[in-house]
Amino acid sequence: MLRLHEYRYHRPAALAEALDLLHGREDAMPIAGGTDLVPNMKHRLWTPRLLVGLKGIAEMQGISLVDAEGHPVDGDDPAARELVVGAAATLAQVARHPLVLRHFPSLAEAAGKVAGPQIRNHGTLGGNLCLDTRCTYYNQSFFWRQALGFCLKKDGEVCHVTRVGKKCVAAHSSDTSPVLMTLGAVVDLASAEGTRTVPVADFFVADGKWNTVRRPDELLVRVRIPLPPPGLRTRYAKLRQRGAIDFPLLSIALAAELDEDETVQGMSLVVSALGSRPRVVTGVEKLAVGGRPADVAEAVARQAFRQCHPLENIIVDPEWRRAMVTVYVRRMVEGLSA
Ligand SMILES: Cc1cc2nc3c(=O)[nH]c(=O)nc-3n(C[C@H](O)[C@H](O)[C@H](O)COP(=O)(O)OP(=O)(O)OC[C@H]3O[C@@H](n4cnc5c(N)ncnc54)[C@H](O)[C@@H]3O)c2cc1C
Ligand code: SF4
Repeated sequence: MLRLHEYRYHRPAALAEALDLLHGREDAMPIAGGTDLVPNMKHRLWTPRLLVGLKGIAEMQGISLVDAEGHPVDGDDPAARELVVGAAATLAQVARHPLVLRHFPSLAEAAGKVAGPQIRNHGTLGGNLCLDTRCTYYNQSFFWRQALGFCLKKDGEVCHVTRVGKKCVAAHSSDTSPVLMTLGAVVDLASAEGTRTVPVADFFVADGKWNTVRRPDELLVRVRIPLPPPGLRTRYAKLRQRGAIDFPLLSIALAAELDEDETVQGMSLVVSALGSRPRVVTGVEKLAVGGRPADVAEAVARQAFRQCHPLENIIVDPEWRRAMVTVYVRRMVEGLSA
């Protein structure tokens, strides 16, 4: 049995108190649902002495529409500008909330495809965005990792995947992040020094050791998503070993604007679970705009294939995962007209 180390736990009710607890303490970490952090603590990947629980913080709750000034408005109010989702909202709440289902079905789908029902009831949207990267050589017990001499993400000096270089290439494995990128979402990050807003597209960096721009003393307070233009269609697809529980082997988010003639007016495609951050597939607009989904699907799929290069960071054949990029993207683009 894997046991937890000794730690203290605080459950503040206000954001300011949580930020004070994290300020200047390298041995403190936030915890939301704990569905990622607790297993990682059991593996001695993280050994915080103080855990700051986020689930009781009022400022991190709720899912609502706001106007341009950030004031709450009703569902059908034409003044509504963006959907605000508190970082402590559970994935189950996101997956079934009427406002998410109505405006951002791909987000509801991605949240509903994380793990299984028990984990979605505890796991939060904030925790999903701040999820640690994953690798065959990292998500193992201390004993297992020690036997291999550890790796450079934790306690060692060598990357067993690339064998050269000083960068970790563990896989970004969050289901909701690629979708939020295609939707143009931003996150509000707060610390004892103030608040900053970062587009989700700029939140991730290409180093699996710490793959976000969030500082350890910062909390992700909320996600804000601009309401979509009328013709926007969004899709999410996930390749995994079983139909439930498993992390993605490949995840794809697509958002496309279609006019009344079903002609593409804009397209955004993000592929993830291959490297340390989600990858925006470039050049798809040029290939897709002005065409019908069925006519441009093959070209967009080939473009995605050219730009995606999975590594052996997960114990599933990278060539097969790469081949699936073409299959999934083609089907998703063709399915836009459905
Ligand atoms: C069996 C199993 C299967 C899983 N399958 C999937 C899957 O298919 N897809 C997927 O995406 N995930 C999966 N997960 C991972 C995890 O359950 C989810 O990503 C979940 O959303 C994490 O949220 P949490 O609130 O539990 O995060 P926690 O475990 O509480 O935290 C995760 C990390 O984020 C930090 N953190 C949490 N909230 C904040 C915040 N508001 N501000 C700053 N930092 C914060 C924590 O310090 C920690 O480093 C799986 C987990 C398990 C155990
Ligand atoms: S990618 Fe390399 S450094 Fe990163 S966790 Fe895996 S083996 Fe370690």
